[in-house]
Amino acid sequence: MALTGIEIFKMLPKTNCKECGFPTCLAFAMALASGKAELDKCPYVSEEAREKLAVASAPPIRPVKIGMKDGVKTIGGETVMFRHEKTFFNPTLIAGLLTTAMADAEVDAKIAQFNKLQYERVGLILRPELLAIHDANGDAAKFAAVAKKVMDGSDAGLILCSENPDVVKAGAEVAKERKPLIGSATPANADAMGALAKELDLPLIAKAKGYDDLAALTTKLTGMGLKDLVINSESSSLKEALQDQVAIRRAALGPKFRPFGFPTITAPAMMTDDPMMEKLYAAVFIAKYGGIVVVNDISADGIFPLLLERLNIFTDPQKPMIMTQGIYEINNPDENSAVAVTTNFALTYFIVSGEIEGSKVPCWLLIQDTEGLSVMTAWAAGKFSGDSVAMFVKKSGILDKTKTRSLIIPGYAAGISGDLEEELPGWKVLIGPREASHIPAFLKNL
Ligand code: SF4
Repeated sequence: MALTGIEIFKMLPKTNCKECGFPTCLAFAMALASGKAELDKCPYVSEEAREKLAVASAPPIRPVKIGMKDGVKTIGGETVMFRHEKTFFNPTLIAGLLTTAMADAEVDAKIAQFNKLQYERVGLILRPELLAIHDANGDAAKFAAVAKKVMDGSDAGLILCSENPDVVKAGAEVAKERKPLIGSATPANADAMGALAKELDLPLIAKAKGYDDLAALTTKLTGMGLKDLVINSESSSLKEALQDQVAIRRAALGPKFRPFGFPTITAPAMMTDDPMMEKLYAAVFIAKYGGIVVVNDISADGIFPLLLERLNIFTDPQKPMIMTQGIYEINNPDENSAVAVTTNFALTYFIVSGEIEGSKVPCWLLIQDTEGLSVMTAWAAGKFSGDSVAMFVKKSGILDKTKTRSLIIPGYAAGISGDLEEELPGWKVLIGPREASHIPAFLKNL
């Protein structure tokens, strides 16, 4: 049961020394109760109080770390049901599926394909993070061999899936330095699998069907001293799986039901053979609470939309993604190159700059600070007006870089062209296309 701010306050030193960054112990206690501060910020809490408070202030869904070659990824740790309440912090990890039934060449090809799945978008690198190895035949040697291929051939994090502890152990021995997620502990093998996870100090999947069995299983495993669990509710249909994801999160966040206070793993790869349906299932679980989604098809056209969806779900809806105001050079422009202007909403920038780049036409792209608003919204809000664009163009430094005195404005801001020409004497304003996809043809026809 969570403690109130006053209950926490009673356990603090009450010296108001401010070292925690809060003006008083009471303010710190209130922040701790609402999950906005960490207990470690107060160096003076007694050991006894620390123990009690650590339990009470633990996040409702435990953050679980899974290693990759160059660092760790965290799943769980979320505190809200909906992203308009607060940002979702730890993006769903996307895993490609390998099985021990695959021939060596197929495993190699899939690892090579996985390595190619890296995309730059709005200044971020988007990629899947994990490879999940599924034991299809109880062959521990083959399981370890596939794990070794992943270790040697990629920087992916690993999920080692078998209900046979000996098979998991064989894989974990090869992959232990990457801190893989292992599983699955079930009601039938919980003792052996729990002991293995404890011995190897690795996060463990707890798999059971039905909420009662699942709660009993996680309770048993935590009773064995295991902390880092990942829940698999073993759902086989989309309806059932979605219901489980919502119910598990709701139970963890609402009544703070500790047996469900862990991130989840979902496996569209095991729910359908149809690649299109698999992606749709994965898209649902990225939106609705999957800590990990495991997919079989890791083709670029299947994974890329999932990466974009994830990017949107796990960005702060209250903070627009923005670009720094300034001049961006595309395709090595010179003093005779075209000059275009748009807003600093990151998505606008990346779409427009991508189309200009693709056109191969050298261009100076002026990005005006509109507080992250897109063209139409910024225009409607008066932040992309003739006055403001003219002032920005004059101050931007573009006059020193080019002799060009034609300025391309977005088609959606055509209404500012008259004002802009008045404010920028000597400049001709060209109304660009409304759709970014028409930019290359427009530039080539200039
Ligand atoms: Fe109180 Fe600890 Fe913060 Fe000092 S550091 S003000 S003792 S809560």
